[in-house]
Amino acid sequence: MLRAVLDEKLETIFDDVVRRNPAEPEFHQAVREVLDSLGPVIAKHPDFARHKIIQRICEPERQVIFRVPWQDDRGEVQINRGFRVEFNSALGPYKGGLRFHPSVNLGIVKFLGFEQIFKNALTGMPIGGGKGGADFDPKGRSDGEIMRFCQSFMTELYRHLGEYTDVPAGDIGVGTREIGYLFGQYKRITNRYESGVLTGKGTDWGGSLVRTEATGYGAVFFVAEMLKARGVGLEGRRCVVSGSGNVAIYAIEKLQQLGAIVVACSDSDGVVHDPLGIDLDLLKQIKEVDRARLSVYVERRPGAQHRPGGNIWSVPCEVAVPSATQNELSGRDAETLVANGCLAVVEGANMPCTAEAVRAFHTAGVAFGPGKAANAGGVATSALEMQQNASRDSWTFEHTEHRLAAIMESIHRTCLETAEELGMPGNYVIGANVAGFEKVARAMVALGLV
Ligand code: NDP
Repeated sequence: MLRAVLDEKLETIFDDVVRRNPAEPEFHQAVREVLDSLGPVIAKHPDFARHKIIQRICEPERQVIFRVPWQDDRGEVQINRGFRVEFNSALGPYKGGLRFHPSVNLGIVKFLGFEQIFKNALTGMPIGGGKGGADFDPKGRSDGEIMRFCQSFMTELYRHLGEYTDVPAGDIGVGTREIGYLFGQYKRITNRYESGVLTGKGTDWGGSLVRTEATGYGAVFFVAEMLKARGVGLEGRRCVVSGSGNVAIYAIEKLQQLGAIVVACSDSDGVVHDPLGIDLDLLKQIKEVDRARLSVYVERRPGAQHRPGGNIWSVPCEVAVPSATQNELSGRDAETLVANGCLAVVEGANMPCTAEAVRAFHTAGVAFGPGKAANAGGVATSALEMQQNASRDSWTFEHTEHRLAAIMESIHRTCLETAEELGMPGNYVIGANVAGFEKVARAMVALGLV
């Protein structure tokens, strides 16, 4: 793999991270991506080096790994592994989602937690960074099995949480249903109705309107800003959104509301191509109500095609929104998108584009919005949920969406201005990494050696 050359000091730090965290390639990739941007920062702030801020930021404050035993519907005992990585609390309580997916391991949780530090800083809200999850596969599990798993998971995790300590939310495989079971168990064990301990709650019991939509909507607000900065709009643009989960569905909804045409989405089995535009009501029925596979879509929608194992990035589009999982868009996929006339790529998922893909977009002049800026709408709205919980208030949809749009605009502006100041106009990766890092670093210096 071709890599950018790092400043010598940063190279030593990176080598150390690799040595001390073996067999965690996604974590190395996430660290490398941030270090690649930090050359100008260490030159500008010699005190950061003196305080060893970069070395400290790469080391989680706390990592918890635990056994999650539970019983399936046949009475058989199952054992999974749970994780919570409390990465950095310089700006506020640890904040970041829980992922339930068979691919979850410590390296994945660390990459996500590391990204979360800078993302949360960019939102301007008082939240630190963390992430967690389990190698549990919810696919095909009954409601009772999901509940028993969540209860067992929380029976260990609760002792590490608290509204001023660590506040998880959802991620892949964890939606409102799972947050409900987790919150119920937390309440039962602690005997406290501590709404602010989890976000992504149902709106009947302490959740915020717009939280469900926030990550997808936020990513679209971000790409709309990126296009505006180039003097063009979203209306009439052909878009492709990978995934068909929470982020993908609400990215599609907002794209459609803004007049774009979404022609493809996917799941881990394949791609749906619907040249007339995805039927969102049908997609929601399949994924949110029936909890079925995406392949069912074509049975109910004449004119659409399902390509098992297909590559969504070969569908021509002007705007691409990778919203499924890490490293789902390779350098070759990026070249295909560029050749098909793609104007903008915005990461709804965390690190969906490989380093090679990001380089290909930059080389071709495609506007590229990295996840730590573009998908920050979810965590920002989680922070708004915490605000509502703290004041025992609940806001209207319009007010909350307005706050979300303003936050995304502000993140976009911060990234753009920071990149400009560094002499890299239009490079949102540099802008996001440097602006996020500087904010956390200043707080770490101010709080002393802790
Ligand atoms: P969901 O579980 O709701 O949906 C995930 C979607 O991605 C599903 O369609 C799933 O398909 C697909 N997918 C997952 N893993 C793979 C894989 N290995 N290969 C192919 N497809 C896969 O998750 P979210 O929508 O919540 O999260 C999607 C991404 O967005 C993740 O990277 C997450 O970290 C990120 N994110 C989410 C936020 C949120 O608020 N939810 C906030 C910020 C980032 P299948 O059902 O077949 O597995």
